[in-house]
Amino acid sequence: AEAQLRQVQKMEAVGQLTGGIAHDFNNMLAVVVGGVDLARRRLNGPRREVMAHLNNAMEGATRAAALTRRLLSFARSEPLLPERVEPRQLVGGMSDLLDRTLGERVRIKVDLAADTWPVYVDPHQLENAIVNLAVNARDAMDGAGRLKISTANVKVSANEVGDIRPGEYVRISVTDTGCGMPPEVKERAFEPFFTTKPVGKGTGLGLSQIFGFAHQSGGEVGIDSQVGKGTTVSIYLPRSSVQPPIRLHAATSRMNEEE
Ligand code: ADP
Repeated sequence: AEAQLRQVQKMEAVGQLTGGIAHDFNNMLAVVVGGVDLARRRLNGPRREVMAHLNNAMEGATRAAALTRRLLSFARSEPLLPERVEPRQLVGGMSDLLDRTLGERVRIKVDLAADTWPVYVDPHQLENAIVNLAVNARDAMDGAGRLKISTANVKVSANEVGDIRPGEYVRISVTDTGCGMPPEVKERAFEPFFTTKPVGKGTGLGLSQIFGFAHQSGGEVGIDSQVGKGTTVSIYLPRSSVQPPIRLHAATSRMNEEE
């Protein structure tokens, strides 16, 4: 029975992982298809514009390739190692991707506190989390509205945010001016496969993945939502107190493997 239980748990983990990857992969494919489609429509337009759309498609494809590489590395049982990440830099580096993912009708405001602490997480998972939140925001706004991404250093005291330990956290928030969540949706939002979106559009895995990521990283995720006004999803990640290790070899080989 022990072994059976372990097997069931393993299958569950594999199911969640594959579903999660399919979700991210879908987002990336949407960028590729969008870029190619726009390029096709503008074939007779300015060359620069066509080129820009093709470059977007190319970047989406490159990210998808990186994702499958990570899937393969998981299959080989190489765990993803967290590393010291500067959230300001990571989020700042995503602005082009976010612009394209969200389209022209969503206005994006980025507000990154200059002194944002470093965190110790898997940078790819954090990027995927932010893309997922942005896609959710876009869906909630029906294509038009305002999206704000902000980072802030926060001191959390006991029982203030979920059940995370008191301490220093970086809060990364994504705020939209969308439809908001009624209580019965908010209650179930983190459940794997819970979705209110039509079949083929939603997988119900975005927020559950983010929940898993935040918890595995020693943090939390919180939702603040008002129907008809909008939603803020905040990811709390513990401040990294670890000094960056001075191991150029390890850093270089990891970079080669990832890129
Ligand atoms: P999916 O986006 O595939 O449905 P998620 O786990 O990301 O899966 O989200 C679950 C549900 O939570 C969504 O179907 C939607 O009803 C709700 N939701 C998520 N983000 C937002 C948001 N920013 N505004 C309103 N509702 C949201």
